[in-house]
Amino acid sequence: GRSHFMTISAGIALYPSQASNFGELLRKADAALHRAKQTGKTRCVLFDDSIQNDLIRRTELENGLRNAIENGEISVAYQPQIDLASGKAIGFEALARWNSRRYGAVSPGEFIPIAEESGQIAKIGFFVLRAAARFIKEAQAAGIEGFIVSVNVSVKQLRDDGFARDIVEIMRKEGVLHGRVTLEITESFMIENLAPIAEKLASLKAAGFSLSLDDFGKGYSSLSYLKGLPIDYIKIDKAFIDDITETENGRVLVNAIVSLSHRLGFTVVAEGVEDAAQVALLRDYGCDMIQGYYYAKPMADDLALAQLEKTFP
Ligand code: C2E
Ligand code: CA
Ligand code: CA
Repeated sequence: GRSHFMTISAGIALYPSQASNFGELLRKADAALHRAKQTGKTRCVLFDDSIQNDLIRRTELENGLRNAIENGEISVAYQPQIDLASGKAIGFEALARWNSRRYGAVSPGEFIPIAEESGQIAKIGFFVLRAAARFIKEAQAAGIEGFIVSVNVSVKQLRDDGFARDIVEIMRKEGVLHGRVTLEITESFMIENLAPIAEKLASLKAAGFSLSLDDFGKGYSSLSYLKGLPIDYIKIDKAFIDDITETENGRVLVNAIVSLSHRLGFTVVAEGVEDAAQVALLRDYGCDMIQGYYYAKPMADDLALAQLEKTFP
C-alpha cells in the first residue's frame, strides 16, 4: 500500500581486458560501483585507472591499519569545547590521529571509513576511549578536574551487543567515572530501525555516560531522532555553521535548531566555527558551546590541559 522510489547505481568492469577471473572482475565492478555511489548515485561508472589507484591505496591503508596501534602509530588529539557564557574550555573532543611510518599522516576522513568497512573500528574506538580515560586520570593526578571528554562512537560499534559491557569494563579498569565521558553518535546510522539503537543508548545513559548527537543536520537528519533518542547534546554540523554568515536561510535554520533543541532540553554545540562573525551570531542565538578552529585546533594532551586556564573572548 505504499509507494517506493528506487534509484540504480551501477559499476562496470570488462572481461577479459580488465580482469582475468571472476573474483577480480567482481572486485573491480564493485570498486566502480563504490565510485558511482560516492559521486552522486543514479549513474553508472566504468572501471578505470583512477579507480584502480584508489583501490590500491585503500587496500594498502587497510593493511597498514591492522598493525597501526601495535606500532604506536595511532595517537589522540584533543580539541577544546568552549562554554560561550563563561569563555572557558569545559570539554574536549578526542580525535584519532594516524601517523603511518609508510604513508605519513593519514586523515581520519580517509582512514575511519576504511576502519569501519574492514572491521577495525571497534579496536580503534576502544584505543581512543582508553587514551581519553588516561588523559582524564593524569589531569586528575595534577589536580585538574571538571572537564568532560567526548569520544566518537561509530554505528558499527553500537551494533555490537557487547559494546556497553566493553566500555564499562574499560572505564572500570582505568578507574574513571562514566560521567566524565560523552559518547558522540553520528546520525547517519539512523537509516536503520531506531528502536534497538535507542534502547542501547538508554542503557549507556543509565550507566552514567552523556550522549551527543554528532553532525546534526548532515545527511539523514530527522526530527524523530530528537524525539526518540535519550541524548544530552546536539552538535550542529559545520556545513550549517558555514552558512550562517552566508545566507539568511542559513541563519534562520541555525537559530531555529538552537531554539528547538533548548525547548527539548538539549545542550547545543556548534562545530567547525572558524571566525568571530560566526561566534557573534551563535551567541545571539543562545548556542551553548563552540568547537572550532577559531578558538582552538585539536592538539596533544599536555597542550590541551593548558587551555583550561585560558578565557576565550
Ligand atoms: P567529527 O566527529 O565531526 O569531528 C570534528 C572534525 O572537524 C575533526 O576532524 C576536527 O578536526 C574538525 N574541525 C573542528 N573544528 C574545525 C574547524 O573550525 N574547521 C574545520 N575545517 N574543521 C574543524 P578530524 O579530526 O579530521 O576527524 C574527522 C572525522 O573522523 C570526525 O568527524 C569523526 O567522524 C571521525 N573520527 C575521528 N576520530 C575518530 C574516532 O576515534 N572514532 C570514530 N568512530 N570516528 C573518528
Ligand atoms: Ca564527533
Ligand atoms: Ca561532527
